[in-house]
Amino acid sequence: MQEKNISKFNFEQCQKCSVCNTVCPMLAVNENYPGPKQAGPDGERYRLKNPEFYDYALKYCLNCKRCEVACPSGVRIADIIASAKLDYGKKSRPLRDWTLANTDLVGTMASAFAPVANPVLGLKPVKAAMHGLIGVDKHRQFPAYSGQKFETWFRRKAEASQAGYSRFVSFFHGCYANYNYPQLGKDFVAVMNACGYGVRLLEKEKCCGVALISNGFGGQAAAQGRVNARSPCATSTRTCSA
Ligand code: SF4
Ligand code: SF4
Repeated sequence: MQEKNISKFNFEQCQKCSVCNTVCPMLAVNENYPGPKQAGPDGERYRLKNPEFYDYALKYCLNCKRCEVACPSGVRIADIIASAKLDYGKKSRPLRDWTLANTDLVGTMASAFAPVANPVLGLKPVKAAMHGLIGVDKHRQFPAYSGQKFETWFRRKAEASQAGYSRFVSFFHGCYANYNYPQLGKDFVAVMNACGYGVRLLEKEKCCGVALISNGFGGQAAAQGRVNARSPCATSTRTCSA
């Protein structure tokens, strides 16, 4: 028995079908990324034998988990990759990683100054400066930020009317709906109300942590997850299972 080769995840269940590779958005556009099968279960076998087999191209994984959803064997591919990045990847985190990972902070600031931030972030000199100073690629297109967060709209315009319903759903809206595209959240509330359900938000919602994990901030992601899990629904004393 090779105890050294036992993974804390379940890569042993991989049957080499390569289905995961067919759904990976990074593999489709980046020839430097080995893909979920190689980065996940295949690479893990090597890394357990010798950490020097760690491939720094794993940094390209977005932690979107599409590979895990597609895997017929239930291999926790994205978890294997995220764990390898934390265990074997670089320990110092550059400003670029910190900026892209802290979506709540950046989103709150960008939303507050959306009329200025949106056009400025699209200017070539600004993109060139960000490329040179903090390593955010100059070809990157930033999503437009909304001048009003979904949460702000909900508290002001929709929360009071939700009390008129007898059944409720807990809505974890996420960063994109909150800072970039509030209409998505507004439409969700409208559909739920039309179906006879009131909507409740967490009293204190934090980013789900996907961006933190993919940039190597596992501890911060876990802390935010605990805040979300313990946060009661607004207007309710129950803890949400959002
Ligand atoms: S989809 Fe699952 S079983 Fe198939 S190669 Fe990928 S990890 Fe292995
Ligand atoms: S989690 Fe990583 S490996 Fe899996 S599909 Fe997303 S980008 Fe590809």
